[in-house]
Amino acid sequence: MTTLENPYNDRSIVVLGLGRSGIAAARLLLRKGARVTVCDSGESSSILERAELLRSEGATVLTGTAGERDPLRYDLAILSPGIEETTPLVTNVTVKGTPLIGELELAFGFCTFPVVAITGSNGKTTTTELTSLMLAAAGWKNAACGNIGTPMSELLLAEEAWDLLVTEVSSFQLETIKTFRPKVAIWLNLSPNHLDRYPSMLEYRAAKLRIFENQTAEDFAVIPQRAVVGDIPPLKARTVTFSTTGSSAEITLRGSEILHREEVVLDLAKTKLRGPHNAANLMAAFGCGIALGADLKRMAAAVVEYIPPAHRCELIAESNGVRWINDSKATNLDAMEKAIQSVQGPLILIAGGKDKGFEFAPIAPLVRERVSFAILIGEMRHRIARDWSAVPLAAVGSLEEAVALAATKAPAGSTVLLSPGTSSYDMFNNYIERGETFRNCVKELSKEPILTPAS
Ligand code: ADP
Repeated sequence: MTTLENPYNDRSIVVLGLGRSGIAAARLLLRKGARVTVCDSGESSSILERAELLRSEGATVLTGTAGERDPLRYDLAILSPGIEETTPLVTNVTVKGTPLIGELELAFGFCTFPVVAITGSNGKTTTTELTSLMLAAAGWKNAACGNIGTPMSELLLAEEAWDLLVTEVSSFQLETIKTFRPKVAIWLNLSPNHLDRYPSMLEYRAAKLRIFENQTAEDFAVIPQRAVVGDIPPLKARTVTFSTTGSSAEITLRGSEILHREEVVLDLAKTKLRGPHNAANLMAAFGCGIALGADLKRMAAAVVEYIPPAHRCELIAESNGVRWINDSKATNLDAMEKAIQSVQGPLILIAGGKDKGFEFAPIAPLVRERVSFAILIGEMRHRIARDWSAVPLAAVGSLEEAVALAATKAPAGSTVLLSPGTSSYDMFNNYIERGETFRNCVKELSKEPILTPAS
């Protein structure tokens, strides 16, 4: 392990946000000798508890309006992912000219291991898990971090020796990088998302493209083949391409087989992963292995027993011949499209949720072709009903009602799919609560046991 220069010793630094990543960032900075203040707008009992804990470790912590109106000026501010730069907590700091970086940038500055970074509108978490698992099977001691759960700062605090770190990065985290330079950057896809935060797709795409910004010819970019001429401008990094439809990429798909330069590396049919979107995720993980010179056969062997994460096209029950699938994590239309395409036979779709700044009209042709009955929920339900006027449908007031209605509409041999296509915040705390509510409603209905446990 090499030692990095420590620019934070005795510097006065404010960490914005007392979530898991803010706490890890504060601890990392304290360890590096910084004078640390942590500010958070919240004052819930769990925030106050965390504040006490960090105070006992040497940080100054300000919560509520005290956090939002802190008059002091700092050398640097660290932003936790998920906090928008326009909130009073952040503007109170930036208005004084304090430079701002994200937790990812802070952690990267202390990271002595090569980093694999994964971005895209959909599939980040699945691909991060797969890449980490498959590289581990090929002998690369690694850990998954970032948006997937454990902040990179928290991993670095453990001071373990890794061969590399695999990190899921969102567009929000990429907005605040400066030197972040992954050895391998994986770009999965780009589709309309977060348009309630970005003025247009241009800004969203520009934020995501920053994943390649500091790469050089010694690094690698794993990208979809069509993106070579489409989404992505010329890159400094060497590229490894994949394609689920074309034949000229380095990694291709033939039926259910994934090929590297015409040689079969994995048959998707032997895994628990379904749909071309999961083939793309696997191909990207293999692409990373190719970039690093890993043994692809050993990587492939690790996938066979892999169970995809909950709430992502997850089969939760098979009851009276009806398959119930929980895809609560589908918070945009591209994810919904992929879920619909991965279902065979008659399909009852439960969709809708919060207004995220896009309409459901673009997916109407596919819904008309594939969905026998649509049940709409959430604040967008009436707008979606207008956009899908040619589809048999009903708008209902709750997910419970939607499940009860779906049961009456689903003959044996059909599938009921919850794939909302937008976020859950109008009705639930998050997509996990939405998925668990769905699971519980289905459990109530079905006389047979649910196949997978809640997680
Ligand atoms: P993310 O971390 O980017 O949100 P997840 O792996 O959590 O991605 O999956 C989110 C949703 O996207 C799920 O509904 C899942 O079925 C779908 N999905 C997964 N991989 C892809 C892909 N490559 N393209 C489109 N949709 C995908």
